[in-house]
Amino acid sequence: MESSNPDVVIIGAGVVGATIALELQRAGRSVTVVDKGEAVGGGSTSASSALIRFNYSTRSGVVAAWESLHLWKQWAEHLGPIEGPLVSFLQTGMLLVESPEFDRAPYRKNFDALGIDYEELDNQALADRFPSLETGRFWPPVRPDQDQFFADPVGLTGAFYTPQAGFIDDPQLAASNLMDAARRHGTIVRLRTEVTGILRQGNRVNGVTLADGTSLTSSVVVNAAGPWSSQINLLAGVGDDVAMTPQALRQEVHVVPASDDFSLENGGLMVADLDLGFYMRPQPGGTMIVGGVEADCDPKVWIDNPDEFFDTPTVDVWEAQVWRAARRLPSLTVPNRPVGLASLYDVTPDWTPIYDRTCLDGFYLACGTSGNQFKNAPLIGIMMETLITACENGQNHDQEPVQVACQQTGLSLNLGTFSRNRTPVSSTGTVLG
Ligand SMILES: Cc1cc2nc3c(=O)[nH]c(=O)nc-3n(C[C@H](O)[C@H](O)[C@H](O)COP(=O)(O)OP(=O)(O)OC[C@H]3O[C@@H](n4cnc5c(N)ncnc54)[C@H](O)[C@@H]3O)c2cc1C
Repeated sequence: MESSNPDVVIIGAGVVGATIALELQRAGRSVTVVDKGEAVGGGSTSASSALIRFNYSTRSGVVAAWESLHLWKQWAEHLGPIEGPLVSFLQTGMLLVESPEFDRAPYRKNFDALGIDYEELDNQALADRFPSLETGRFWPPVRPDQDQFFADPVGLTGAFYTPQAGFIDDPQLAASNLMDAARRHGTIVRLRTEVTGILRQGNRVNGVTLADGTSLTSSVVVNAAGPWSSQINLLAGVGDDVAMTPQALRQEVHVVPASDDFSLENGGLMVADLDLGFYMRPQPGGTMIVGGVEADCDPKVWIDNPDEFFDTPTVDVWEAQVWRAARRLPSLTVPNRPVGLASLYDVTPDWTPIYDRTCLDGFYLACGTSGNQFKNAPLIGIMMETLITACENGQNHDQEPVQVACQQTGLSLNLGTFSRNRTPVSSTGTVLG
């Protein structure tokens, strides 16, 4: 099939576009992926912390993450034969240190129902298991320039531990792995190719126009443009049809030397700390990364144009995130200047992604990933292929939500949870979803 006339055009060659390409191509559709960047996975995917965890507010969120874990663990089988190195899943376990008002009960309920291991650690158990962690409560998170920042902790925290959590060692390579597998089935990838318009024929999408003045004709177009997704929705004229409008949010992730007891060589541990307002995980090479979890006191930097944002780490954010990590892990060595990266999340109002159709027939959304969907990359392609096939065969997904049969866990996943027009789900209002 010529790339000028594929069945499907996918806008975006990040991990989301790549997984969708693979599954649509496997299902027999010819796919062209276009990306204005230089490399597969070179957008926000390349900045991902790539944590694989299961703590989500919705049942569907937990099901998706749990099914995806099984696919990451058999990555080579999932991809089929491709050349070159593959990513690895590194299991470290994750500790969730909750804020005082955090309700653990829904997590417990979902984990019990799905068979996900967890341990509820009281302070003594926490201290015994992870002796280098400060177990006191710091709540609420404050800025480092407030005196209270250095106050002694008061009371006890306890924590929720999930031993099966971990991370993927190279998020951009994960996107490349998926895209290489899609290419093997016939997908065409066009980099340095910007979509500047969406073609319509009546109420049906009819392809895309490109910055060089040419166009690609197709009866299905998928918006997998990450932090640029709302721009693409406006081009398609579906902005008003998406109540859960995503918005780009600036993020920083910092690199610090790993303390011995938290290095990967010693088993590592990931910590998401809502009490202090940060997360951290070890990484290969004797370092750790530290990010933020949207503490109320931290300003949110919303970005109007994702092509223009300050992409260098700042002292302000560095201090807030890394100093908080050092309060929980006093043995952490804090370097004297910021090292790390700045990138963008594509955030919906309830921090839950959108996997959906739109009012423009044939125009589909896989966006609004809210800083927490890398982990679902292997499943997102399967979800979108199931959705697109059902809708193209006439199913009215808005009224009769498509269900995905998860092959690994035997669970059923209700895609209605990820509707563009859902009633906002009750979430943590943070990247944890
Ligand atoms: C700092 C950070 C940390 C994160 N940590 C985690 C984590 O620990 N765990 C987790 O599960 N998730 C995490 N995430 C989220 C996860 O990485 C993202 O959800 C995921 O990578 C998004 O992939 P994507 O393919 O949708 O977007 P992207 O990778 O951004 O890809 C979108 C692509 O669209 C292209 N594009 C845009 N506009 C156009 C156009 N007009 N024409 C052509 N191409 C276009 C861009 O060039 C880009 O390559 C994190 C994200 C960030 C930024």
